[in-house]
Amino acid sequence: MVRLALIAHDEKKDDLIAFAREYEDVLADYDLIATGTTGKRLLEATDLEIERKKSGPLGGDLMIGSEVAQDLLDGIVFLRDPLTAQPHEPDISALLRICDVHDTALATNLASARYLLEGIDDVS
Ligand code: PGA
Repeated sequence: MVRLALIAHDEKKDDLIAFAREYEDVLADYDLIATGTTGKRLLEATDLEIERKKSGPLGGDLMIGSEVAQDLLDGIVFLRDPLTAQPHEPDISALLRICDVHDTALATNLASARYLLEGIDDVS
């Protein structure tokens, strides 16, 4: 089964919720994980089942990065806010880096998130 992580910075959480609602039928067939607050918002707004990790600033990005390092994840949709400084920027950079090390699909905006979802079935 496809295992996908969903993460969004605060300014992007509404966008991720709208995206998850649009693709809810597709996402319902996936094994989903999310950072803490993103996961909470998605659980409230959809009927998806989502395993919540810690909130991003408390290590959630690193927990998801650990899954990438173990080759447990097929992809990540991480809607980042490029305009706001994040206190846990080093953790975010580590997550982006480990995706590149393991060649794990990573979408950081809505346009690439759509491609990722449309392509992920072909590679899994
Ligand atoms: P959050 O974490 O879902 O707990 O807000 C996301 C992040 O800031 O990386």
